[in-house]
Order: sequence, then structure tokens, then C-alpha cells
Amino acid sequence: MANSPLRFDGKVVLITGAGNGLGKAYALDFAARGASVVVNDLGGDFKGVGSGSRAADKVVEEIKAKGGIAVANYDSVEFGDKVVQTALDNFGKIDIIVNNAGILRDKSFLRISDEDWDIIQRVHLRGSFLICRAAWPHMRKQHYGRIIMVTSSSGIYGNFGQANYSAAKLGAVGLSNTLALEGIKYNIHCNAIAPVAGSRMTATIMGKELIDALKPEFVSPIVVYLSHESCNETGSLFQVGAGYFGKLRWQRSEGIVLREDGKVLEAETVRDNWHRITDFSKATYPTAKDSTNFMTHILKDMDQAH
Ligand code: NAD
Repeated sequence: MANSPLRFDGKVVLITGAGNGLGKAYALDFAARGASVVVNDLGGDFKGVGSGSRAADKVVEEIKAKGGIAVANYDSVEFGDKVVQTALDNFGKIDIIVNNAGILRDKSFLRISDEDWDIIQRVHLRGSFLICRAAWPHMRKQHYGRIIMVTSSSGIYGNFGQANYSAAKLGAVGLSNTLALEGIKYNIHCNAIAPVAGSRMTATIMGKELIDALKPEFVSPIVVYLSHESCNETGSLFQVGAGYFGKLRWQRSEGIVLREDGKVLEAETVRDNWHRITDFSKATYPTAKDSTNFMTHILKDMDQAH
């Protein structure tokens, strides 16, 4: 209902990496709206080195001081079962997940070690998988769940020095898209956001002025709305930051069928038609349904043409 505040009384929200930056802003926002919040944070540095309870504890203390409900969990998201168990043990259920925990190991491509690659996939992608898999049966059973996957513009577009991170972050979008499809009949919705915010993660590349302008609190409103039971959005991707909110989708050129009966299809034919293959003047916006139906339609059109 328009005008009514978005409340989360009785709802249990798990936010991974909620000890700092964006995750902390989400935790405070949900708690202020009545949710019971699991504040997960491993407590290491932004490269994933070290651990500690201080980061999560401080956020829990802040929520409680304001009269909210929260509990801390200090496990790495690499142990998704344990993290979700904290929600079940303390609040008896799990309703909402924000897969926010993250680290960086930025290096130009050739300098990425196995460890730099693996730890980024483990935390960002595998961590999100493990958290969701642990919560999924509970969400299915209660016929309710909201999941936010956190991606990045680096994942969507690529970014110099972030091959490991961009691969994991676009992986999170793929995971989100499929969970949205599998979850829909159980009222489990899953969306991805690509935020921009001033945090310790971006402090090395942003000046102080920009960090102050890009407050994590400007991202939180869409995370809260997408997580509400009244929101029907699922399988979508949003870019968010500094008070800006926009939705992204795929675009496909009209394309061209180059096959001709009885003729061999050669690379030169592709070259000679490149302008038509890449012409977006009659673009369409394919969705999940296209992935199975697209080639069937192409083959049917070809049959009819002959
Ligand atoms: P941040 O470093 O301030 O916060 C990330 C938190 O995750 C930290 O408190 C850290 O301790 C925690 N964490 C790291 N590894 C963990 C693990 N294995 N298990 C549990 N917790 C762990 O960073 P942030 O800028 O707030 O980023 C939050 C998320 O948003 C990340 O996924 C990041 O990739 C994404 N993101 C941020 C930006 C941005 O502009 N800040 C842009 C794109 C994407």
C-alpha cells in the first residue's frame, strides 16, 4: 500500500559482511524497521586477511542501543550452513538474505595467483551459493523468501585489474537469475544489485569528497524494498548509488540467419554480414524464456521459408 511504511516485524534477515560499509547500513535500516537481524562478519581486512568479532559486535551493539533486535555471527560465508544456523538457533527461521560479504584481491590479469583467484570465488560466489543452499529448504517450506545478490559494475562491464572479482561478481548474477526462476513457485524472490558506495573497500580508489558523497545509506532503500513481502520484483538487476536507481536488461540485435540450403557456411559470410549481425537498430530484450525457445523459433522460421 502506498504511504504505509515498509515494516519487517517478525521477519528474520541475514546480512553477510554486515560489520562495515554497505552491509552495516542494510543491517541498521532493517533493524529500524522491526526485523530480527543476523549480523554476519568475519572481521578480517578488505583483502580477506585476519578475522575477529569486533566488527559484527559493534553493529549488534548499535542496533540494540536503538532498541532493535540483532545477533552476531563471526563465521566466514564459506561456512554457509553455520551462518544460517545462527538465524535458525536464535530466531527459529530465515526470511531474507543479503549476500553482501566481499573482499578484493586486485591485480592485473597475469599477476593473479591461484590463491587470489580462489579466495575471491570462494567468498563472493561460493559463499553466496552456500548461504542460499542452507536457507533454501526453510524458505521453500514457509513459502516465503527474499534474496539479494550483490554484484558490481566490474562484473557487468569488466574492470582493469579485477579479472578475479569481475568473474565472481557476474557469476552472482547468473546464480541470482536461476534462483529467481526456481524460487518463483515458492514465493522466493531473488534480485541482484550493483552498488557504488564509499567504504573501506573503495577508500583506496576514491577521494574523501567522493566517499562522503556516496554514502552506503543511499543504496540501502532498494535492498529494503526488494526484500519486502509486498515487492513482486524477481530475476532483475539494478545499478544503485548516490541516490540513483536504475534497472538493467540484456539487449540482442535483430541478427540474421546466414544458412542457405545446400551451401557450406563459411567465416567469410560472417565477415561480410558483420554490420547486420551487430546492428542494434531493431534490438529485442530477451528474457529467461528465450534461452530455451530462441533456437526452436529460428529453426521453425527457416522451415517456413523453404
Ligand atoms: P566493506 O569492506 O566495507 O565490507 C565488506 C564486509 O564483508 C567487511 O566487513 C568484511 O569483514 C566482510 N567479509 C569479508 N569476507 C567475509 C567472509 N568470508 N565472511 C563474512 N564476512 C566477510 O565493503 P563494501 O564496500 O561495504 O562492500 C560490500 C559488498 O558490496 C561487497 O560484496 C562488494 O564487492 C560490493 N560492492 C561494493 C561496491 C562499493 O562501491 N563499495 C561496489 C560494487 C560492489
